[in-house]
Amino acid sequence: MHILIIEDDPAIATNLYDFLEACGHSVDAAADGITGLHLAITQHFDGILLDRGLPGMDGITLCRKLRQEAHLDTPVLMLTARDTLEDKLKGFEHGADDYLVKPFALREVEARLVAMHKRHSGKVTSRILETGNLSFDPKTMSVNFAGAGVKLPPKCIRLLALMMGEPGRVFSRKELESGVWGDAQETSDTLRSHMHELRRALIRAGGYDPIETVHGLGYRLVTRAPA
Ligand code: CA
Repeated sequence: MHILIIEDDPAIATNLYDFLEACGHSVDAAADGITGLHLAITQHFDGILLDRGLPGMDGITLCRKLRQEAHLDTPVLMLTARDTLEDKLKGFEHGADDYLVKPFALREVEARLVAMHKRHSGKVTSRILETGNLSFDPKTMSVNFAGAGVKLPPKCIRLLALMMGEPGRVFSRKELESGVWGDAQETSDTLRSHMHELRRALIRAGGYDPIETVHGLGYRLVTRAPA
């Protein structure tokens, strides 16, 4: 399995890293929430170990963004120092799949990751996102517009998926930038050029542009085809 560890305590992160690697997994690690979210949405992982208290962005917020903004259902095992029912419920409510309280046994972490992965891969639900003439399949990362497949680079797909999450709503440039690039210092030209590429590909596939520029505010996805 390809596993992402998002944990700011270096001793815990190292223990997890070494143990999981010794079990034969390929492991990546991030020590803060922003880097963690960025990795989680730009690479494919079979499971994420997510510490709840993190610098930059806490684990609950990260999990919510992963589910609601990036539309990813990567299994998340939340690690926390707190052991109250309220805390557990809050984790689940924001999209965590499982929960472990520190201190934990490394073997249990691995067993739970494997179990989560099995449950997840056994699910047949494709959770395809559909908006007007657009559809997006997060499992295959494929986009279809007005019956035609659209070839897009991953960042353009993320942009589109973000907007498809809430069709009709105006997304600010800042919001789209942080949703796609995390809080990495991207210039507005990066967003502009990806938006341009996305719109050109959509026009080529479906014959019209479903994205509207709202001057001074940002962009919005229009669900209805032009008459
Ligand atoms: Ca922590």
